[in-house]
Amino acid sequence: MEIQELQEEIRRKKREKDVVILAHYYQQPEIQDIADFVGDSLELSRVAASAPQGTILFCGVRFMAETAKILSPDKKVLTPYPQAGCLLADMAEPRQVEEAKKAHPTARVVAYVNVYAEIKALADIICTSANARKVMEKIEGEKILFVPDRNLGAYHARAVKGKEVLLWDGYCPIHERITPASIDRVKEKHPDALVIVHPECPPAVTEQADFVGSTSQLLRFVEESDATCFIIGTEAGILHQMRKKAPDKEFLLPDPIPVCDQMKMITLERVYTSLKEDIYPVTVEETIRVKAEKAIRRMLEL
Ligand code: SF4
Repeated sequence: MEIQELQEEIRRKKREKDVVILAHYYQQPEIQDIADFVGDSLELSRVAASAPQGTILFCGVRFMAETAKILSPDKKVLTPYPQAGCLLADMAEPRQVEEAKKAHPTARVVAYVNVYAEIKALADIICTSANARKVMEKIEGEKILFVPDRNLGAYHARAVKGKEVLLWDGYCPIHERITPASIDRVKEKHPDALVIVHPECPPAVTEQADFVGSTSQLLRFVEESDATCFIIGTEAGILHQMRKKAPDKEFLLPDPIPVCDQMKMITLERVYTSLKEDIYPVTVEETIRVKAEKAIRRMLEL
């Protein structure tokens, strides 16, 4: 089937089967266009929890669909391709986190939402790229073990006073490849462009950027800014919503272009098959789910 035909078929089927389709900003444009909601992982999980539909088809990587299941245990959550994982989430294994907790018994574990359910269950509290600083400031205790993203942790820890923050040695390889040189190559040709980046980028990039923010914050920034040209330091998929929200502005990507192959494993064909055949349901073992939900809810209460 052609793309448009497939999209029409997906729209028809989701109405017929009463399914809500959620898509992350890093999904392919043709998938974002058939979604009922496009957002960051936590926004989407909150939408999933309040949506009236009994089935959620989550177009994103596995930890995102798991987060939706953790917050909506009574709903059916489908992922079009369960093998779509996250290279950052893979960098923290439960056994390693348990050992680190034993080595630092007074440390509170703050886990970035980009981890699997087992790690969320071991955390005291979850954070997002937008609220990590606030979470670090508000959590009781003077020592924090921040997992798994060292760049995001370092960026926010800089502003947190009176606390020791131990950083896990993980990183997102896609954002790690955004370097000052990869931005300068584009900036040379567009000297007036504002550089706006995600905090998963390395410190050498965040320190020189004009603005640092989560995907939702970057989107809001380009809409509200008076500037007309931007170099976007995050995964290429975000440009689809930026172009929709600010069609008269110009958006450029670092060279080489940051693309997450895991996110791109979700294709329109796989979404269609998932919808048609009710595959693949996401499951989270109940004791893990309950602990993970507690850590997420602690963040939401802040
Ligand atoms: S962009 Fe990085 S953090 Fe996001 S899903 Fe891909 S590997 Fe994981």
